[in-house]
Amino acid sequence: MTANLIKQTHFDAIIIGGGACGLMCAVQAGFLGKRTLILEKTEKPGAKILISGGGRCNYTNMYATDMQFISANPHFCKSAFSQWSVEDTVIFFETYGIEGKEKTLGQLFPVSDSAKDIVNLFTGLCRELEQEIWCNAEVKAIDQVMGGFAITFERDGREETLHTPKVVIASGGLPIAKMGATDFGLRTARKLGLRVTETAPALVPLTITGKDQEWYEQLSGNSIFCRVSNDQISFEENILFTHWGLSGPAILQISSYWRPGQWIELDMLPHQNVLELIEAERLQNGKRPLGGLLASLYTRKFAEALAKYLPIEKNLATLNKQDMENINNLIHHFKVKPAGDKGYDKAEVMRGGVSTDELSSKTLESKKIPGLYFGGECVDVTGWLGGYNFQWAWASGFVIAQGI
Ligand SMILES: Cc1cc2nc3c(=O)[nH]c(=O)nc-3n(C[C@H](O)[C@H](O)[C@H](O)COP(=O)(O)OP(=O)(O)OC[C@H]3O[C@@H](n4cnc5c(N)ncnc54)[C@H](O)[C@@H]3O)c2cc1C
Repeated sequence: MTANLIKQTHFDAIIIGGGACGLMCAVQAGFLGKRTLILEKTEKPGAKILISGGGRCNYTNMYATDMQFISANPHFCKSAFSQWSVEDTVIFFETYGIEGKEKTLGQLFPVSDSAKDIVNLFTGLCRELEQEIWCNAEVKAIDQVMGGFAITFERDGREETLHTPKVVIASGGLPIAKMGATDFGLRTARKLGLRVTETAPALVPLTITGKDQEWYEQLSGNSIFCRVSNDQISFEENILFTHWGLSGPAILQISSYWRPGQWIELDMLPHQNVLELIEAERLQNGKRPLGGLLASLYTRKFAEALAKYLPIEKNLATLNKQDMENINNLIHHFKVKPAGDKGYDKAEVMRGGVSTDELSSKTLESKKIPGLYFGGECVDVTGWLGGYNFQWAWASGFVIAQGI
């Protein structure tokens, strides 16, 4: 790969990937008077920012702490967040005219509801600070050479190799290949002798197959508020039934903690006790059918679908002990064994990545290879749904900019 003539450059660092982490890194390096070059595979930077949050970009979370991040080393992200906090994100965007509005659960979006404003801010700042962004430039290899690295990339059908003293790998994770996602960060880490923690789709819908699929299919489009749990964690948000299984925020959240073969449990009435509701209603109106009571708690379609499991035609007054036990189990302890997940095409992030053992938590520089940095999604730090992943991308970009 280094057979090309290696061209010297005046850049302090080359950043691979013009996504959230790479753009923040270039801008922060620019503030410090450093010159960087971003090499971006696709035709424009920030593609995932543009589609994030349904095109509105949930760019941070007001309540983010290190607790909402999954990693083999849960302490690893603390240093980056102590250097770049949620407040820093909010102030950074406000300084450049992007006011935030909080939606549910601390999720912050631009008041304009436009992810374009975020990308335009970064590309504008890069121009102002003379940070270069070369698009349609896919990096093929990084080789260690005297005084730094040789970066070989293909641009407009031509292969070129540039020399750089420092290199930042901010090439993201595996989700959504058609938007530019590659395994470049993982592949390069392995090639350079760095360990990679097992990767999998995360924040991803879960599929149901076999005899239960029909039941889920008939409910497609119905959404209910649930507590979704496994033996590690629980989330209270909506779930959405689909033709192939389950989606919605609570399912995406638990998917990051789910492994094939495991069960999850749904409490479909997390803030009430269904047996107490039945007892109370029985006293008022014992002739009311169970289905009528359930239809007052859920959509009619969902209440009807429960007929597969419950005697919904029975009057409340005639429910026996066994019926009550079944109702309690079904409403509060509904067990689901997903067949799988919808894969990287539908995942919002990748779990796992370059092992945190290989990197300094203070600088995100490789411990073995000085001058090599990893940031954003390709590192084994995965946030919950709700703006956490961008917070990690901004923070890691900022931290790396200090070191390059
Ligand atoms: C549909 C969707 C919605 C999302 N919504 C949100 C949200 O609202 N809030 C939130 O916090 N997170 C959200 N995320 C997650 C968030 O987008 C990512 O966590 C974040 O973009 C990661 O930033 P990054 O810079 O590490 O990677 P990316 O933003 O993926 O950037 C990596 C860049 O590297 C480029 N690249 C890859 N390989 C090469 C190569 N070999 N050479 C050159 N360039 C290369 C890619 O083209 C890409 O532009 C969402 C994700 C998806 C898929």
